[in-house]
Amino acid sequence: MNHTARPTATTREMLTALIGFNTISHHPNLELIDYVYEYLQRLGVQSRLDFNADRSKANLYAVVGPPDRPGIALSGHTDVVPVAGQDWTRDPWRADEQGDRIYGRGATDMKGFIAVALAAVPAMLEAPLQRPLHLCWSYDEEVGCLGVRSLLEFLARQDNKPAACIVGEPSGMQVINGHKGKLSVRCHVHGHACHSALAPYGVNAVEAAARVIAQLHDMAAHKREHGPFDETYDIPYSTLHAGVVHGGTTVNIVPAECWFDFEVRNLPREEPGPIVEAVKRYAHEHIEPQMQAVAADTGFHWEELARFPGLETRADEDIVEMATSLAQSPRLRKVAFGTEAGGYDRIGIRTVVCGPGHIEQAHKPDEFIELSQLASCEDFIARLIRELC
Ligand SMILES: [Zn+2]
Repeated sequence: MNHTARPTATTREMLTALIGFNTISHHPNLELIDYVYEYLQRLGVQSRLDFNADRSKANLYAVVGPPDRPGIALSGHTDVVPVAGQDWTRDPWRADEQGDRIYGRGATDMKGFIAVALAAVPAMLEAPLQRPLHLCWSYDEEVGCLGVRSLLEFLARQDNKPAACIVGEPSGMQVINGHKGKLSVRCHVHGHACHSALAPYGVNAVEAAARVIAQLHDMAAHKREHGPFDETYDIPYSTLHAGVVHGGTTVNIVPAECWFDFEVRNLPREEPGPIVEAVKRYAHEHIEPQMQAVAADTGFHWEELARFPGLETRADEDIVEMATSLAQSPRLRKVAFGTEAGGYDRIGIRTVVCGPGHIEQAHKPDEFIELSQLASCEDFIARLIRELC
């Protein structure tokens, strides 16, 4: 890889514009979407916008090239993770080019890829494309791949849905053909309050939650020792953990309420549902009867927070061969972090992940992308355009 290569001014200007829109997940992304919509319209490309319920956010979908044939989708999310509480030394919403880097929130995850793809639209239009490129830009990926769901429903209904998809999450421009899935759940524990001096007359919700969390820990240890395993992952088994706990008010009251969030990161070949069911069963069979012996209206209830499927694209699929050849990097990787790729795969669109920048720089203060990564991605897209002619 050429580490001194620099991207075109068009790509840098596009990335500067995209970083300038604060598109933290849950916030509106419409300013960015309008900007892209108008940019494409000026080039003669019509976009389909797909709004959320209160019309504060939208996915953007556009086809460049002959729309009556199956083509290749380029997919990315327009939202970024928050900056609050992070130690930024610069304005996260102003692209700042220094040396061989461009700094700004989303530079790597993943406005860099979107900028390269959009800057290449004039080249796509000039090329005699025999098969189209589909641009799929979603919202609210970082909070559980929410926005892309309606886009996937739309694509699944199309006669000419994309034959394959490249999700441009940061992979150092290497091809990723597998990643884990995720299922996250909130557990609400309802106990029975009383003066702490009379603790046996109460049902302690914090302690009941702690017992379930300890069980999660034991289940995670069991996965680590007994699998199932896929040695092509850095962490070759499904993992689970509790990430947030809230409960109690003061030490001299037996707490009536507690909730905690936990998640499963599953190997694609292992469904996360049965793992969560085992956690629930433990709570309902081993803890709840003891709670209800003291107060009948106590117990657990559960709320699913987010889920996305894992990705496992076979190495001999056309898209894997095409992407490794375009990336000029034959080595395939599998990763623990999730993307929208599994969702495309579920509707029959074979998908890989390949994009500029490195995941280590994502979600960090002073997030940046190397110019050479953007240049490599430009080469990748240019080869893809030639491939489709
Ligand atoms: Zn991302």
